[in-house]
Amino acid sequence: MSPPDSYVLERESLDALFEALARRGYSIIGPTVRDRAIVYDELRGSADLPVGWTDEQDGGHYRLVRRDDDALFGYNVGPHSWKAYQLPAQRRLWRGTLDADGGVRDIVEDATAVPRYAFLGARSCELAAMGILDRVLLGGAHTDPDERARRADVFVVAVQCGQAGGTCFCASMGTGPTARRGFDLALTEVLEPARHYFVIEVGSELGADVLAELPHGAAGAPAQEAAAAAHARAVEQMGRTVDVTDIRELLYRNYEHPRWDEVAERCLTCGNCTMVCPTCFCTTVEDVTDLEGGQLERHQRWDSCFTIDYSHVHGGAVRSSPRSRYRQWMTHKLATWFDQFGSSGCVGCGRCITWCPVGIDITEEVRAIRASEERAGADD
Ligand code: SF4
Ligand code: SF4
Repeated sequence: MSPPDSYVLERESLDALFEALARRGYSIIGPTVRDRAIVYDELRGSADLPVGWTDEQDGGHYRLVRRDDDALFGYNVGPHSWKAYQLPAQRRLWRGTLDADGGVRDIVEDATAVPRYAFLGARSCELAAMGILDRVLLGGAHTDPDERARRADVFVVAVQCGQAGGTCFCASMGTGPTARRGFDLALTEVLEPARHYFVIEVGSELGADVLAELPHGAAGAPAQEAAAAAHARAVEQMGRTVDVTDIRELLYRNYEHPRWDEVAERCLTCGNCTMVCPTCFCTTVEDVTDLEGGQLERHQRWDSCFTIDYSHVHGGAVRSSPRSRYRQWMTHKLATWFDQFGSSGCVGCGRCITWCPVGIDITEEVRAIRASEERAGADD
């Protein structure tokens, strides 16, 4: 496939994109500053974007700091991911009436209309994560109509990374930092002393239709070179790396490795890593009644393999120790996911490292297991 044509949109014209999407009935979701973090929420215009902010990230560390320019996308990824719009953190499935004998009648399935979303600001690793979650949620024979509706008509405006965060390792996972597909439009932000503009790639016919409504021009060689330089900068700045050679086999061979005990001494089993992960998809259901006990509702909500009850079967939990729960999580992401869904479950976004309260680092855990094997091989 030939590379997409590229165009230029001046910063002053970015609100025309918001207007074009709003005219088409999209609810525009994108990055904004709230509670000292960059989160995803509904946006009305470019003033809602994190103008002039960047994020510092490391293991167990996230801080917003001011940039010395007015970049709109000069940060990496925050605690939110698009998962919340593919698979809501909580939703009611149905409600009904509880009989005195415990039976349920008059069941009404929840039919909340799903908005038409435009995702603005999705990074390359996030596009990969959306694709993985689509395979998990929508790839089987029996799919949830709500989850299908959520993905049926999404317009994606990707933003190419011009810098990488301290915990990013998408280059190692082959998911970034530059998006090649999975978007309708992709923006690369370019800040020059006297000019602020976006180089735009078109990824779909719908994207071309929307672009046609914006004041834009063809990207000349200097603009294309500026965009390429921004992409290269992100590769150079990648905060973490991980060697994924035969990673599935590596983890299968080391199911009883002492490193699992070491990480378990630090792991709080809080589940933060699974909540922020853009591909973790475990859910549970809860039934609640009103105070009189006559009305019953069933809710679905995110769950985590770090929750002891998540592996509860008759007689107790299968994964009762922190060791077994961390091992389950990491080997699922990097090994068993291949068998289940045909790819890695990790896209290298780094969120689980940043948002782990004790700074446990999945890349460090892989490195430690691999290094011990290499040392054992050298000793033989
Ligand atoms: S690895 Fe970190 S974030 Fe994940 S459960 Fe353990 S302490 Fe919590
Ligand atoms: S496992 Fe960690 S780095 Fe990988 S996709 Fe999930 S949150 Fe991102």
